[in-house]
Amino acid sequence: MKKVLVVEDSSFFGMVIKNKIQTKSNFYVTWTKNLSETVKELNKANNNFFAAVLDFNLPDAPQGEVIDKVTSKNIPSIVFTGNVSEQIREFVWSKKVVDYILKEDPNSVDYLIATLKRLEKNPDIKILVVDDSPLFRKTISDLLQNHNYTVLAAGNGKEALEVINEHPDIKMVITDFNMPEMDGFALTQKIRERYSSDELIIIGISSERDTYMPARFLKYGANDFIVKQSFLTEEFYCRVTQHLDSLERLQAVKEASMKDFLTGLYNRRYFFDFGQKLFASAKRDNLTLACAMIDIDFFKKVNDTYGHKAGDLVLQHVASTLKSRMRGTDIIARLGGEEFCILAVNLKENDAKKVFEELRQTIEKSSIQIDEDQTINVTISTGVVTELTDNLEDMVNRADALLYEAKNSGRNKVIVNKLNFLS
Ligand code: GH3
Ligand code: MG
Ligand code: MG
Repeated sequence: MKKVLVVEDSSFFGMVIKNKIQTKSNFYVTWTKNLSETVKELNKANNNFFAAVLDFNLPDAPQGEVIDKVTSKNIPSIVFTGNVSEQIREFVWSKKVVDYILKEDPNSVDYLIATLKRLEKNPDIKILVVDDSPLFRKTISDLLQNHNYTVLAAGNGKEALEVINEHPDIKMVITDFNMPEMDGFALTQKIRERYSSDELIIIGISSERDTYMPARFLKYGANDFIVKQSFLTEEFYCRVTQHLDSLERLQAVKEASMKDFLTGLYNRRYFFDFGQKLFASAKRDNLTLACAMIDIDFFKKVNDTYGHKAGDLVLQHVASTLKSRMRGTDIIARLGGEEFCILAVNLKENDAKKVFEELRQTIEKSSIQIDEDQTINVTISTGVVTELTDNLEDMVNRADALLYEAKNSGRNKVIVNKLNFLS
């Protein structure tokens, strides 16, 4: 469990923060009430705080002195403050904190928890900073590292493209315009050939001297821009966080539209969309492709005898067995009801027989827990085609016809390319 240090002298507020963090997240809170207690806590050998929440004003440290003590231990810190003057704001940001939060804001504790959760997730988010000025590159990289992001850097557009090739999961690129070899516009254009703006965020860094630069960045496909000369830490963080939040929401919607809710397998629409592409590339490159239709035997009886919920558990069990037995590159989909379809690249007839026969046996042998003291067994019938015909629909229909044959000739069997083996 990750530990969060809360430094707060008000008993009431400290209790509220501690309780809310512990009930609404997986963090464990250590609460200290002043600077000296905090220093003692930090010096303990087992101190490994994931983050800290610091009250700006403490009885023995009225001017934010606690901030240096904690950030010097490389603990990402969020400052809580009762009032915020221009002076305090500047002071706080100069201390490389994650954020500051106003105490009297009614949503302050929820905002705090959301910030802690983001800090926990950020190491998985890769951001690429592209600038030929080592100093500005470092400024931006340091700010991002304060928020726990994984930061990559490049000195020009060409280098940036190489880094993106190595890390295709980069979520954001922050790029300067004026750079040797390849400038920010050309880089933005190149990135957009491969990634749309809801797959990868681009923020251009423009110069105050050129009023048209922001518009040009946006036209080339950037999501946003920041102006180098009037750069505000607070604004920078807000923009980065908001863009990443909306990217995450879009990706969650996209993921939901591709997948079946009950089993987490791909749905029919995704199967045919992505399957067509796989089919076309298999045809072009002369690869083998196996298509298997799988249907649970007498599934209606499971529902009728044990109830719909037990039926759902059986579907989930079969789905996870399919996932664990097939390769990551195979497409596994639930086409509807208790019917599944698998597309596997580079699976030739003999191997397909082996793989699907083993799958049949695994399902037959595994007991499915449907409630505390009851398990049941099911079997599946499978039809497999390993010959690339004219199109994907045709392949699926043929596999379906073989599945029908497997059902009619006794169920719990695999038929590959018309050949009935084992039963
Ligand atoms: P066969 O061996 O010939 O395949 O017989 P079967 O009973 O498996 O096939 P049938 O097509 O007659 O019945 C399929 C059943 O699957 C009927 C339907 O109520 C049930 N079903 C479809 N979707 C779901 C689901 O999401 N959850 C549950 N629990 N049942 C579902
Ligand atoms: Mg069935
Ligand atoms: Mg059926």
